[in-house]
Amino acid sequence: LGDVNFGAMLHAFKLRLEKDAIFTNIGPVLVVMNPYKPVNSCAPSSMMQMAKSTSAEDLPPHCHSTVARAYAAMGELKGGSPQSVLVSGESGAGKTETIKLCMSALANLSRSAGSTTEAALESGLLLEAFGNAMTVYNHNSSRFGKWVALHFGKDMKISAGLILSYLLEQSRIVSAPPGERNYHVFYYMIAGMPEPLRSQLHLEDSPADYAYLRDGETRAPGIDDIGGWDHLTSRLELTGFDEAEQRTIFELLAAVLALGNVRFVEAEPERSATPKELEVKLVSRVLKISGPSVASKRLTRQGSAYTLALSPDQCADTRDAVARAIYSAVFDHVIKHLNGTLGAGSIDRNSGRSIGFLDIFGFENFTFNSFEQLCINFTNETLQQHFTNSIIKRQQDEWKREGVACAHISFPDNTAQIELLDSKGGVMALLDEECTVPKGSDEGYVSKMHNAFKSELYSKPRRGKGANLHGKATSAKFDKLQFIFRHYAGEVQYTANRWLEKNRGTLHPDLPKLLASSSRPLLAALFAERAASDETKRATVGASFRASLRALSETMAATKQHFIRCIKPNMQQRCDDFNGQVVSRQLRYTGVAAVVEIQRSGYPISYSHSNFIGRY
Ligand code: ATP
Ligand code: MG
Repeated sequence: LGDVNFGAMLHAFKLRLEKDAIFTNIGPVLVVMNPYKPVNSCAPSSMMQMAKSTSAEDLPPHCHSTVARAYAAMGELKGGSPQSVLVSGESGAGKTETIKLCMSALANLSRSAGSTTEAALESGLLLEAFGNAMTVYNHNSSRFGKWVALHFGKDMKISAGLILSYLLEQSRIVSAPPGERNYHVFYYMIAGMPEPLRSQLHLEDSPADYAYLRDGETRAPGIDDIGGWDHLTSRLELTGFDEAEQRTIFELLAAVLALGNVRFVEAEPERSATPKELEVKLVSRVLKISGPSVASKRLTRQGSAYTLALSPDQCADTRDAVARAIYSAVFDHVIKHLNGTLGAGSIDRNSGRSIGFLDIFGFENFTFNSFEQLCINFTNETLQQHFTNSIIKRQQDEWKREGVACAHISFPDNTAQIELLDSKGGVMALLDEECTVPKGSDEGYVSKMHNAFKSELYSKPRRGKGANLHGKATSAKFDKLQFIFRHYAGEVQYTANRWLEKNRGTLHPDLPKLLASSSRPLLAALFAERAASDETKRATVGASFRASLRALSETMAATKQHFIRCIKPNMQQRCDDFNGQVVSRQLRYTGVAAVVEIQRSGYPISYSHSNFIGRY
């Protein structure tokens, strides 16, 4: 750009998108504009070659260049260090797709082949079946975060891989919100599972037959469920799941669906609930459990034990908790198994030869935002902070060091947001606290926050005309549960309905024991540990999430970070539609606009002396 200003940059993005040029360099950041249609995103074949010979500055804007730069930096004879490619952007901006392009480019560039490489490349797609779902923003939205580290041997070829996952969205397992779907795998099974397995697992013919799928959409545009089944099973095979192992996974997933169909009715006269006989028989047959049912709860009070009958609603809650626990355990099991295939156990963490890829769930702001959205947005805040520290502050410091006169640029700084979320007495800590006090409640939690926070980042919902952020009236029931948090990417109104329960994340101790007693070995194994430990002493979901986020931050900080920012050109998932407002909003809050300011006030490109002499 001759004249570097925001308007010119926006216009350039528009022109470039029209020409299918989806990659743009802005200083050290690669911006990817989601084309929402297949474009030729292959790098020119010579580029990979070029990547090895030319200096990193000369590479054309492309995610392959980013990878090439990381690969080169990792392999430097002296001082090669672990690298990371951190991809961010809103839901639907193209993070997951970009990472797939990056990883296959990396496999090419390093000339890696063989089963580990193949499993590493397939693992992403495999996990999409279990952890992605159709949402209003994205037909293939990642509902979990993941960090995938590829490790390289002395020959600089991929030798092993490690996958860590973060916070699979739980609420979706037991209900597909209207206009959205549950996890893809359920629809793949229903559409594609062949006989005789199908009847052995008592699988119904249509998503409409299942309570957990019924409320949502049955089809997702652009997603082929029958094909999805075929790909899923071949990917499972490629990544080391033999037929028996595959079967055990599908058995448990079919059981989750069957469980959802169990209904409870009031049993007169004792008023304890009895589940409908047939449905329960089916579930116990599929899960291979017998013994205490979910319709009661054993309690010990003052030394004597007794059994408490639950109301139908309480039974349904317990049923859902069990379904969520089984699905999450299967998800974790798949990742653990993948790590085995990728040789994660044998990784030499000190070799310095690794490139990590971060693909998290993008920032979200729905009409109704719950605990899941808070955690998702918190994760995005953390990643944004890495960006600011790494790119903007680093650049400013460098110019100061080199004596380049450069006006101080104000950049979007979200330290205060993270502080309010993460600190002692902050949003997450107060939730944990409310979970431990006697008579703690969602309402109590929100009112404590209302009283405690005197920050401009936090507010009570505005009442009256035009009160709701989204222009939709929310029921009075939730009035006392709402609060507004101003994230770096915009204000989000949260509704703290059932947050205490979500944060506790515990099952009644009887349940892990019941599941561990199953004669299905996988199910028994998945719950053996939980059955043996004290359920009430489990860390809260929020606390373990924060701990893993901190660990992730440390891992990222120990790498040289390469940033890719994905931008969506419009909110409707449409191709050939560039909405200037939507794009400029994203460019501003992500700090890309600030990077432009900095580039303009200093020097946009810096060469080392030797490169400069070589070139000129
Ligand atoms: P989420 O946070 O919801 O997981 P995401 O940022 O990972 O979102 P993707 O799933 O990568 O978003 O992309 C959403 C959709 O956009 C894809 O399913 C695809 O249709 C389209 N898309 C993204 N990147 C590209 C690309 N490089 N070329 C063509 N289409 C793309
Ligand atoms: Mg994604």
